[in-house]
Amino acid sequence: MYECPWCGRKSFSFWQKQSLGPSRSIACGHCARRVSVPWGRAHLAAIPVFAGALVGLWFLGDAFNSKVVALAGGFIGLAVGMVLTMPLYHRFVPLVKPARP
Ligand SMILES: [Zn+2]
Repeated sequence: MYECPWCGRKSFSFWQKQSLGPSRSIACGHCARRVSVPWGRAHLAAIPVFAGALVGLWFLGDAFNSKVVALAGGFIGLAVGMVLTMPLYHRFVPLVKPARP
């Protein structure tokens, strides 16, 4: 569970935070005020997803010289990237009071 930056109580689950992006906010179950994640750190943590997808698309597609394999590689890269991003999101992206209310 994660602490609310407003009231300090643990009110957010792992999956609530994973689904949260810098352009989204969710309401605290205790104080009803909204929390978000900081733009910069959320994007840094998401880099493995994009990198994984690109690496899968390019290298697997090139290696097998096939668009179907490239597409499959892209999806595999995306999945691997997400697995890498989840712990990054968990550890390095704090919950914050949103810049815009
Ligand atoms: Zn709260």
